[in-house]
Amino acid sequence: PFEVLVVGGGPAGAAAAVYTARKGFSTGIAAERFGGQLNDTLGIENLPGTPYTEGPKLTDSLKSHVGQYDIDLMDLARAVELRASKDVGGFHEVVMANGATLRARSLILSTGARWRNLGVPGEAEYRNKGVAYCPHCDGPLFKGKRIAVIGGGNSGVEAAIDLAGIVGHVTLVEFDVKLRADEVLQRKLRSMPNVEIITNGQTTEVLGDGTRVNGMVVKDRASGDERRIDLEGVFVQIGLVPNTEWLQGTGLELSKHGEIVTDDHGATNIPGIYAAGDCTTVPHKQIVVAMGEGAKAGLGAFDFLIRNEPV
Ligand code: FAD
Repeated sequence: PFEVLVVGGGPAGAAAAVYTARKGFSTGIAAERFGGQLNDTLGIENLPGTPYTEGPKLTDSLKSHVGQYDIDLMDLARAVELRASKDVGGFHEVVMANGATLRARSLILSTGARWRNLGVPGEAEYRNKGVAYCPHCDGPLFKGKRIAVIGGGNSGVEAAIDLAGIVGHVTLVEFDVKLRADEVLQRKLRSMPNVEIITNGQTTEVLGDGTRVNGMVVKDRASGDERRIDLEGVFVQIGLVPNTEWLQGTGLELSKHGEIVTDDHGATNIPGIYAAGDCTTVPHKQIVVAMGEGAKAGLGAFDFLIRNEPV
């Protein structure tokens, strides 16, 4: 058994484990894929103190940082079930896909999230070559260019407002007959001169020249007519899904979006169980935020363990 078991090995989980190991606690990390979303990321330009790095490189340096401590890193290990201790200070159990059960008095859940894909031809092919998911990360790469934002909920409309200040032109495409974002955001978006809004529109294909995106096809859902739009970038904003399906029905409080509800110490509603990063209700899904939240959850687990004797 561990004193602290971190489930998830992205930036949040790696930070949490370094913090608890440095407190002298026996720490394990169980991760389906160490590095998490970093493995799918090319350039990273917004990690303060690191003007430029790449996802796989940052994964390697997190791995070597974790490796400098006595941390038991279990990679390719997927958690499928949580059995929370009924006693404060008792052992929680995490059942793994291979049937093993890991036990720890404190858990830090950091299983991250995944962007919902459009699932249309060209999207996967041009990922990181014009198809993007994170406006904070990739917006500046499209300075002065033409882009589309797919999705008219709050995140799509926020992204469109953000990007309209950087890029040349934004086309916002919403599948429904009307935008679903808050009225105040819609008003702001409509006031911007370089934005076109298409409702009742279905994106059917992302087009490119083999190297980069150069357009997309949008179908008018009323008439069935298809229209080609020339552009250089497509930001997909149709939802970020937390990897918390395995936690449903366990007594752990989740938001209506499936995010783990945490307080400002990273604590969940179950004593001894902490959470950090993109799988939680903490806003702004970013590497630096996930790392900071991981550190907080690690220190939260420390506070818990020194106050609660083993039962
Ligand atoms: P994740 O990175 O999602 O890691 C989750 C971890 O949990 C992984 O190890 C995963 O394998 C594991 N896991 C999931 N389910 C289970 C399970 N059941 N059992 C065990 N392990 C599990 N942010 C920036 O700040 N700057 C950028 O430039 C940037 N670019 C991005 C580009 C792309 C293409 C993407 C997808 C994201 C980008 N982000 C960027 C966002 C950033 O990657 C995330 O905010 C960050 O990785 C979140 O860290 P995390 O540790 O919370 O989760």
